[in-house]
Amino acid sequence: MKIDIVSCQPGMFAGFLSESIVARAVKKGACEINIVNLRDFGEGNYRKIDDKPYGGGPGCLMACAPWFAAVESLAPRLGAEARIVMTSPGGRKFRQADAEALAKEAHVVFMCGHYEGFDERIRALATDEYSVGDFVMTGGELAAAAMVDSIVRLLPGVLGGGREATANESFANGGGLEAPQYTHPAVFRGMAVPDVLLSGDHAKIDEWRRAAAERRSREFFASASAPFRASPAAPAAPLQVRPTPFDECFMRMALREAEKAAEDGEVPTGCVIVEEPSSPDAPPASVRILARAHNQAEGLVDATAHAEMLALSAAFQARGNWRLTGTRLYVTKEPCPMCAGAIALARIPVVAWGACDPKRGGGTVFDIFSHPGMNHHPAVIPGVMEAECRGVLQEFFRRRRSRQ
Ligand SMILES: [Zn+2]
Repeated sequence: MKIDIVSCQPGMFAGFLSESIVARAVKKGACEINIVNLRDFGEGNYRKIDDKPYGGGPGCLMACAPWFAAVESLAPRLGAEARIVMTSPGGRKFRQADAEALAKEAHVVFMCGHYEGFDERIRALATDEYSVGDFVMTGGELAAAAMVDSIVRLLPGVLGGGREATANESFANGGGLEAPQYTHPAVFRGMAVPDVLLSGDHAKIDEWRRAAAERRSREFFASASAPFRASPAAPAAPLQVRPTPFDECFMRMALREAEKAAEDGEVPTGCVIVEEPSSPDAPPASVRILARAHNQAEGLVDATAHAEMLALSAAFQARGNWRLTGTRLYVTKEPCPMCAGAIALARIPVVAWGACDPKRGGGTVFDIFSHPGMNHHPAVIPGVMEAECRGVLQEFFRRRRSRQ
């Protein structure tokens, strides 16, 4: 794997590249890391890389020409072969799944932003924009280093013990946090290691670790909107996430889809699938909509043409991948068992619905989202704009009865 990091402060990477796992990965030949000094592409005798903003304002902005020259020197066929990652506080939040996806690429270029800001047109260079957290840094160097660390350790042969070494770690494989761990001594300053770990009973230890990891993850994610999947062995209720104004915005869009279905004489359900927002208060306009659809069972003469199924198919096409990690699905009525199963298979992490279905709800009656036999357990947000979603259904059935 080839990694290029474009920065105007290349000195910041000296320690990072000479220590730890990254140095080991380079030494072992698992990857090649190249730091590119943006100033080498600056203009004039002073290698100028920034300029005053049009329209006035304090400070300077990083200019287009040096960035385009630098990135194009590394990845001449832009986008076709290399992934070009821009560090940006407004980007999508970088997750373990992103590290796993980037670790499969042959060439990744990181563009380190700077506190002064970019000329907006520089964003056109990037194939991806990521943020490492909801805070502001003076430059993207530390964010890029954090992402490179998480990618490089996934490369084959870098960690001793192969894939197993990473399998149980916190956040690996889309899961939650690890169970607490202890080493010698058994009691330190009055703090004792849990008895079960000293018991030598491996079945009991596994069970304890699973439950402890589960509890810790639940506590961790309770205050965040981050998706959380229970481990397959845990027969727990699905994690409930609180709705935000963001969720209402997309449920409203799903409602408009439901109204379209009603106009065609279909049972009015609508569905929207979006990319997970970079933060809970991200403006809805910044979110990519992957798919929207409404029920077409009658029109298509297809019992499986539910809003969710049609939206899932469209989202698979949009992503070019059936794994819809990092997305949210909105549907006006609780998914039926078929749709709930399909949603879980597609690995959608968060599902929001409006009206509950007390007769055949895939979540509340059939328990598909938390069934221990399912490999994936989406978090759920039931009852988003429930009154409106229920109203559309009631109105439809009331009219149908009055016609009959
Ligand atoms: Zn359905």
